[in-house]
Amino acid sequence: MHIVAIGGSDAGISAALRAREIDAGTEVTVVVADAYPNFSICGIPYYVSGEVTHWRNLAHRSIADLEATGMQLRLDTRAQRIDVDAHKLLLVDSAGAEEYLSYDALVIGTGAVSARPPIDGLMGEGALGTDDGVHLLHSMGDTFAIMRTLEEASPASAVIVGAGYIGLEMAEALIARGLRVTQIEQLPEVLPTVDAELGTLVRAELVDHGVDVLTGTAVTRISRSSDDSAGRLQIDAVTGADVKVTRRADMVLVVVGVRPDSELAQRAGADRAANGAIVVDRQMRTNLESIFAAGDCVITHHRLLGITYLPLGTTAHKQGRVAGENALGASREFAGSLGTQVVKIFDMAASRTGLRDHEAIAAGYEPVSVDFEADDHKAYYPGSHRIRMRYTGDRRSGRLLGVQLFGHRHAEVAKRIDIAAVAIFNEMTVDEISDLDLSYTPPLGSPWDAVQGGAQAWMKAHATSV
Ligand SMILES: Cc1cc2nc3c(=O)[nH]c(=O)nc-3n(C[C@H](O)[C@H](O)[C@H](O)COP(=O)(O)OP(=O)(O)OC[C@H]3O[C@@H](n4cnc5c(N)ncnc54)[C@H](O)[C@@H]3O)c2cc1C
Repeated sequence: MHIVAIGGSDAGISAALRAREIDAGTEVTVVVADAYPNFSICGIPYYVSGEVTHWRNLAHRSIADLEATGMQLRLDTRAQRIDVDAHKLLLVDSAGAEEYLSYDALVIGTGAVSARPPIDGLMGEGALGTDDGVHLLHSMGDTFAIMRTLEEASPASAVIVGAGYIGLEMAEALIARGLRVTQIEQLPEVLPTVDAELGTLVRAELVDHGVDVLTGTAVTRISRSSDDSAGRLQIDAVTGADVKVTRRADMVLVVVGVRPDSELAQRAGADRAANGAIVVDRQMRTNLESIFAAGDCVITHHRLLGITYLPLGTTAHKQGRVAGENALGASREFAGSLGTQVVKIFDMAASRTGLRDHEAIAAGYEPVSVDFEADDHKAYYPGSHRIRMRYTGDRRSGRLLGVQLFGHRHAEVAKRIDIAAVAIFNEMTVDEISDLDLSYTPPLGSPWDAVQGGAQAWMKAHATSV
C-alpha cells in the first residue's frame, strides 16, 4: 500500500502522520512544493514581531522528526498532474526534472493561496511586488520576503489592507517592530467575523496601540510615491461616502483572505464548489476514485450550516487526519466545524463559535441574542478582568447557537469559547449550560463561571421575550 499526500502543511502532514500511526507497514510519501513541511504558518505574525526568534522555531516538527515517523518527504517538488485511471502523479522538481509516482490512495492537501483584490497596481503588467515593498502573506516564502523588506529597507510605515484576524495580528507585529501602521478595511468594522459591537472594542484596542484604523474604506490603487520622504508607496482609497483618501507608506501588506488552491484537482476531474473549493463528503472523499482531499482546498462541513468554506488550521488538521485514516480503508467521518476561532489583539482577545444572528436566520433558526458582562474571576482577588459576551440561542428550542467573547488576553477567552463550542457540538440548550460542573477557585473563576452567567442572562431575556 502506498499513500501519497500532496502538500506539506496542516492537512497533508496530518494525513501522512495518521496513516503511519495506524499502519507502520504502509508506505507514505508527502510531496511538498517548497522546502518547509509542517511549518506553523499561524505563528508567522509572532516571528515577524520578534517574539519567535527564529523562523525554524515555527516548525511543528523538524524534517528529521517527520522522517523518523517513516514517511518519505519529496521537498521542492510540485505535483503537476494526476492520472486518475493509472493511479499516478506527475512530479516536477525545482530543476525541472519530471518523474511519475504511483499511489494506491492519494490525499490532496494543496491548501489555499492569498486572494488578490482588484486593486490597481496589484495585478497585471507592471504590478508592484515584494521588491517594491508590496506583500501578500500565506507561506514561509511570503514571510521571508516580508522580513527582507523589514531588514533591508527599514520601512518606517506600513499600510495593511484588510482587518481580518491575520491583518490584526500583523498590525500588532509591525507596531512591535516600531512601524507606523494604517489598517484599511472595506467593511464597516474591523474583525468582520464577530458582530460590530465587539468589532468596535477590537478597533479601540488597535487605536489605543497607535494603529490608524480606516473602516468602510476600499483601497483602489497602490503606486510608487512621487514624494519618497513620506513613504515610497502611495495608497489610494475611497470611503463608502465616496470620499477619496490617500496614505503614503514604505510597505503595504494585502491580507484580504484566501481562495482554495484546487486547479490540480480540477484538471484531474474533481468536482468543485462555486468558490473553487474541492467537493468532498464527510469522509473527505472526492468524486475521483481513491482520491481524498482535506484542508483549505476543500469545502467545509459545518454542524449547523451544512456546506460552507471556513479555511482554518485547526480544521485542516482534523480533516487531514480523517483523510489519512480513510486512505487506509477506514470510513471515519469529519464531525464538522463550528467556525470556532480566537485572535489576540495586543492585550485583548476576541473569539467566536457557532452562529451569529444573520447566519442563524439563514439556517432557519429564530435567534435571540443577549449581551452580558462578567468578571473572569472573583473581583476581590487582584487582576480580574471583565469579559464581554454575546449569547445567541434559538427562541423555539432554547438551543445554544453561538457565542462571541471579548476580554483581556489573560481572561481565558479562548478556553471559555471552547466550553461554548463543546455545548453547541453536543446540541445543548442554553439552560443546560448552568448545569455544567465547571471548576472554581476565586483567583481563577467564580462559583457561576462567566459562561454560565451569560447563559443565565440569555435565559432571563428569553423568558421575557416569549
Ligand atoms: C498568518 C496566518 C495566521 C494564521 N493563523 C491561524 C490561526 O491562528 N488559527 C487557525 O486555525 N488557522 C490559522 N491560519 C490558517 C491556517 O494556517 C490554514 O488554514 C492552514 O495552514 C491550512 O492548511 P492546509 O494544509 O490546508 O494548506 P496550506 O497551509 O495552504 O498548505 C498547502 C501546502 O500544499 C503545498 N502545495 C500546493 N500545491 C502543491 C503542488 N501542486 N504540489 C506539491 N505541493 C503543493 C504547499 O507548498 C503547502 O505545503 C493562519 C494562516 C496564516 C497565513
